[in-house]
Amino acid sequence: MADYDAIVIGAGNGGLTAATALAQKGVKTLLLERHNMPGGSATSFCRGRFEFEVALHQLSGLGTAAKPGPLRMTFDKLGVTNDLEFVEGKDLYGVAMPGGFHISLKTDLKETIETLQERFPKEKGNIKNFFDLMGRYSQDMLAVFVFRDPAPTREKYPTLFSYAFRDAESVLDEYFTDPLLKTVLSCYWGYLGVPPKRLTFAYIAMLFFHYGEFKPFHIKGGSQALSNALLNRFINAGGTARFSCGAKRIIVEKGAVKAVITDQDEEITTNYIVYNGSQAAAYVLMIDPKEVPEAVTKDVKSRNISISALVLWAGFDCEPDVLGFKDSTSFLLSSTNFTTERIIDNMWHVGVRDDIFAFSCYDLSDPEFSPQGCCQTNLVTLKYGEAWTAIPPAQYYDVKFKCAEEMLKRMEAIYPGIRGHIEEVEFATPLTFMRYLSTPGGAIYGYEQLMKDSLFFQPGRSSPIKGLFFAGGWTGDCGFEPTLSSGFAAATSIIRQLGK
Ligand SMILES: Cc1cc2nc3c(=O)[nH]c(=O)nc-3n(C[C@H](O)[C@H](O)[C@H](O)COP(=O)(O)OP(=O)(O)OC[C@H]3O[C@@H](n4cnc5c(N)ncnc54)[C@H](O)[C@@H]3O)c2cc1C
Repeated sequence: MADYDAIVIGAGNGGLTAATALAQKGVKTLLLERHNMPGGSATSFCRGRFEFEVALHQLSGLGTAAKPGPLRMTFDKLGVTNDLEFVEGKDLYGVAMPGGFHISLKTDLKETIETLQERFPKEKGNIKNFFDLMGRYSQDMLAVFVFRDPAPTREKYPTLFSYAFRDAESVLDEYFTDPLLKTVLSCYWGYLGVPPKRLTFAYIAMLFFHYGEFKPFHIKGGSQALSNALLNRFINAGGTARFSCGAKRIIVEKGAVKAVITDQDEEITTNYIVYNGSQAAAYVLMIDPKEVPEAVTKDVKSRNISISALVLWAGFDCEPDVLGFKDSTSFLLSSTNFTTERIIDNMWHVGVRDDIFAFSCYDLSDPEFSPQGCCQTNLVTLKYGEAWTAIPPAQYYDVKFKCAEEMLKRMEAIYPGIRGHIEEVEFATPLTFMRYLSTPGGAIYGYEQLMKDSLFFQPGRSSPIKGLFFAGGWTGDCGFEPTLSSGFAAATSIIRQLGK
């Protein structure tokens, strides 16, 4: 008899929901986490009197008790909804540039359409048509991919069939001529790490729709509160969690999972494993190559690893209005003149140039987020890890300092005078994410969501190796909602196989 019915490797979003769902169905489950705390990216850290959020900008798919989204239904099943306090955000996002350009898009899509029409009167009709298109597209996506229409046809879903393989840039070009408007409407690419020309239009449509329909939420206590709540539920359901304990090898015999070897060289037997990491790490580093089917190796080799990030966290000694912050989430730009080549060039470059920056000030949606009378921000720009891994160790701190300084200057160009109010500051590079997430190049979004690997062609949760499942950002879309759902879905497959 195996030591455990199931072992979950990794306590990120996917691992935590998988482990909790399994334990709650009476599956004897062990959760192994290399780090000394739960959450993976869904975590926080403290500097001075500030607790800084690492990853969660806007939680999607939650909805309200009266109009629940898919994520709330998952939380209800896991029993964590009432363990957490959610704060609804009113902003989709703002866009700000040096020189005073600023626009706020609100979660009420009608209001957003009116705001855009007022600012871009020549494009009034096109704006309405574009939002109608996104609405129709998202409805088609829901019917086919969420409600799983068994016989989807072009006649039933004309918008989906016409736009499924269109990139975001070409659809924006089809509808608009104003470059500033196209820039404003494509900003979500800055969340996804793929420039509009290489990004499936579906992502832009689904993000507007999802945030408009189910609203963005913030969690009191940040994403660490969610990770802690899931871990508590897991332990209360009888699960066993071990921290500072990585899994080194997965033992497979005759095509089926048999055991995990920890990095303390302990062998723990099981018939089911959920791995909250990449297929590349599992198949290449953890499993005997003789047990890995060729098709799997080929698939793993065909995929691109996503981007990493530079992140500047700052804690201020005053309220956000003193500093001029207007939106809880915004994108800071220095130009509207981004060519795809320039965007990609910037992402492969070590330093900060005319990048796009995602900028959050959580205190605007939750005034209790920071200590009283203070606020905090989080500024993110996207960079591949490769250039950073090539920096000689002796130069790392100088390069890191210069980049942090450049990012601060970008903030100051839009919000002058902020420097004098800084109380705490911290900075992360791709090497930081390599260290804390153990991902190649410090990747923060799993596999890159290029058209070829986009939501229509994702690797998924299952494996040809019996008993092996995956959960988290490497199985499909990254972000909180998809990764939390993926763990629950992996657990459901195991529970079904166990007949529980
Ligand atoms: C800076 C930043 C900003 C982000 N912004 C957003 C955002 O605004 N909105 C959004 O939705 N998403 C955002 N994300 C992405 C989101 O946080 C991730 O998609 C999600 O948290 C990933 O969850 P996961 O299940 O893939 O697990 P991960 O967070 O990748 O965690 C995996 C865990 O598994 C552990 N592990 C891996 N291998 C082993 C092993 N062999 N043994 C033991 N443990 C192991 C790791 O230590 C880690 O704790 C952001 C991420 C970052 C880093």
